[in-house]
Amino acid sequence: MALYVYKFGGTSVGTVERIKAVAEKVKKARDAGDQIVVVVSAMSGETNRLVALAKEMQPQPTDRELDVLLSTGEQVTIALLSMALHQLGCEARSYTGAQVRILTDSAHTKARIREIDEANMRADLDAGRVVVVAGFQGVDEHGNITTLGRGGSDTTGVALAAALKADECHIYTDVDGVYTTDPRVVPKARRLDRITFEEMLEMASLGSKVLQIRSVEFAGKYNVKLRVLSSFMEGNGTLITYEESEMERALISGIAFNRDEAKLTLTGVPDLPGVASKILGPIAAENIEVDMIVQNISANGTTDFTFTVNRNDFARAQKVLEGLRADLGGNTTIIGDNSIVKVSIVGVGMRSHAGIASTMFKVLADEGINIQMISTSEIKISVVVDEKYLELAVRALHKAFGLDQE
Ligand code: ASP
Ligand code: MG
Repeated sequence: MALYVYKFGGTSVGTVERIKAVAEKVKKARDAGDQIVVVVSAMSGETNRLVALAKEMQPQPTDRELDVLLSTGEQVTIALLSMALHQLGCEARSYTGAQVRILTDSAHTKARIREIDEANMRADLDAGRVVVVAGFQGVDEHGNITTLGRGGSDTTGVALAAALKADECHIYTDVDGVYTTDPRVVPKARRLDRITFEEMLEMASLGSKVLQIRSVEFAGKYNVKLRVLSSFMEGNGTLITYEESEMERALISGIAFNRDEAKLTLTGVPDLPGVASKILGPIAAENIEVDMIVQNISANGTTDFTFTVNRNDFARAQKVLEGLRADLGGNTTIIGDNSIVKVSIVGVGMRSHAGIASTMFKVLADEGINIQMISTSEIKISVVVDEKYLELAVRALHKAFGLDQE
C-alpha cells in the first residue's frame, strides 16, 4: 500500500465533467489499494474572477479580506469533488486549510506554511477514506484565513506530502510532464522521464512555468518525490528527484529561455571603488531586480558597466540611470536595449564535464549569432542574444546537445 498526494490544478477541475473525471481517477487509485490525499485548486478562472470582484469593491482591499475571498475558490472545489466521489461510492471527506490545520505565518496573500497537523487526515486515511484538501490556503495562529500566493496549491500538495511522508506527490496539470524546452519553439522537444530538483529550479526560474518555484524548493528541502503528469492523458510524466549517481545522465537536460529581458549599459564610468554600488544601489531602491551584471576591464581609468533587468522595468531603470549620470561624472553615456533574450542550457552533467561552454558558443557562432553577455553557474550557462535569434538559438542548441526527439 502506498500513500500518494494528488494535486489537480484549475484546468483539471474547470468544469463539472472534469471534476467527475478526477473523481474516477482518484477512485481507481484507491480501489487499487493506495491511500490518496487530493489537493485541488479553484476551478479555472475562478481566482481571477474573485480578484476582479474585490477590485470593483475597493481599489486596494486589505490583504486579510482578500484572503477570505480568494480562499473560497478552493472551498467550492473540495466540496464538489467529495460529492463526485460519494456519487461513485467512494468514501471521501473535504477539508479547508484551517480544518486540516495548515498553520501558516500571518503574511496575508503570501503566507508560508509553518506546521501541518496530520491527525485528521491520518484518521480518515486509516478508515479507508479519500482526503480532499483545499490548496493555496491555511490559517494563522490567530485563526485568520491566509493564502500562499498565486499558484500556491502546488506548495500545499508538496507540504502535505512532506508531512504525511507520502511515497510521491503527483502534480496533475494540462501538460504531460517537463520538456527539454518549450515544444512551441522546438517541435522536437522531448518529455523528460526525470529531472533533478536543481535543474527543475533553473528551468522554472528561467521561464518554464510548470510548477510554482516555491513548491520545487520545498520538495527539494524535504526530499518529496514530485511527479508532473497530465490529468487528461495516461503516462508516467516527469519525476523530479535527487540525482542518482548510477543513472545514465545526459550532459544537458534542457534549454530554457526568457523573452522578458532588457539590457542597460553605462559607458565611460570612472573605475573607482564604490561605483558599482552607486549604480545598483538606486536601482535596488526602486525595487528593480537585476539579473546579469558585467563590468568590463578598464582603460584610461574608465570602464563600461552592463546589467539586465526585466523588460517591464526597463523604462524605470533607464530613468534611474539618467538621474545618476551627473553624479558619476566623466563622460558617462547610457545605452539601453530592450530587444534581447536570455537563452540557457541547464544540466547537472556539466559539473563533471569540460567543454560544454565552448560547445555552446561554437553552436551559436556557426549560426552567426552574436553573444552579448555570458553568465554561468554550476549547472547552467546563460547567454544574452538579440531577440530575433531566439528560436534559431534554442533549436540549434537543442539539436547540438542531443535533445531532439528521434
Ligand atoms: N487558485 C490559486 C491561483 O489561481 C491557487 C492555485 O491554483 O494554485 O493562483
Ligand atoms: Mg497552477
